[in-house]
Amino acid sequence: MGFTPPASDMRHRAIGPVDRLPPALQRACEPGDEFRPIPEPAPHDWLANHPELGQTFEQFVNAGCNKPDTTRSKIYLQPLEDFPAGEGPSLEQLRRFAQAFFAIEVTILSPGGLGQHPITSRRNPYTRQIQLLTTDILTLLTRRLPSDAFCLLGITMSDLYPEPAWNFVFGQASLLERVAVYSFARYDPRFYGEERGHAEHVMLRRSCRVLAHETAHMFGIQHCIFFHCLMNGSNHVTESDARPLHLCPADLRKLHHSVGFDVVDRYRRLRDFWREVGFDDEAQWLAGRLRHIEA
Ligand SMILES: [Zn+2]
Ligand SMILES: [Zn+2]
Repeated sequence: MGFTPPASDMRHRAIGPVDRLPPALQRACEPGDEFRPIPEPAPHDWLANHPELGQTFEQFVNAGCNKPDTTRSKIYLQPLEDFPAGEGPSLEQLRRFAQAFFAIEVTILSPGGLGQHPITSRRNPYTRQIQLLTTDILTLLTRRLPSDAFCLLGITMSDLYPEPAWNFVFGQASLLERVAVYSFARYDPRFYGEERGHAEHVMLRRSCRVLAHETAHMFGIQHCIFFHCLMNGSNHVTESDARPLHLCPADLRKLHHSVGFDVVDRYRRLRDFWREVGFDDEAQWLAGRLRHIEA
């Protein structure tokens, strides 16, 4: 049985009843025209190959996932190496994006903070690129989890692999230990021997997308099968690029449940960030939602 996109009543059920929510949050959770239903998957797309049942807001709440609290209140980003200008996304831009997106404080640690512990590596036989073993990295991060961290996320421009039999992996997480590692290597057009061109713009958009998607998993938010959403699974870079940079109403409500932000304030900060870095399409989408919420 292939995947059939859920109908409108299922999408409403995923969000759950909103009539008791504060007015601004209620309007933010209305599935208006700015939110499109999830598209039918093509044969190589995620849902054609990974059957998923989806996670409603109610299921998310009942699962009782990790939440930030007064003690574990920050997201830490741990670069595994220096990110020289022009080589990867700007760490400061990533930090500001993540802080606006999750509405909690985000701190970047120094690459030297990991110490001199060796990380197992190999040269991939197909790409000839150096790859780092994710399990070594997760062990290191677990030992260094700051006491006030909600989660600690390793980020790297090196390619990754989870075990010798695997060709590669984009990233790996341990929700229990609240640590994860993600690579931006395969989001760089140069990885595929393509011209850099507007690579910096492409890299920033892709890196923000992967950081937001993967970090949302740390909050227990699973893949979305209801809307075209940041939390849709993806099987390849083209499918990943097609995903929106925003959360659908069901997933927005989940993040709000975990963090408890002001929805208007969060959208404003995100809009201002996208404007500043020159992503007018994202800024306009947010401006549209703000008009709806503030009407
Ligand atoms: Zn995912
Ligand atoms: Zn969603």
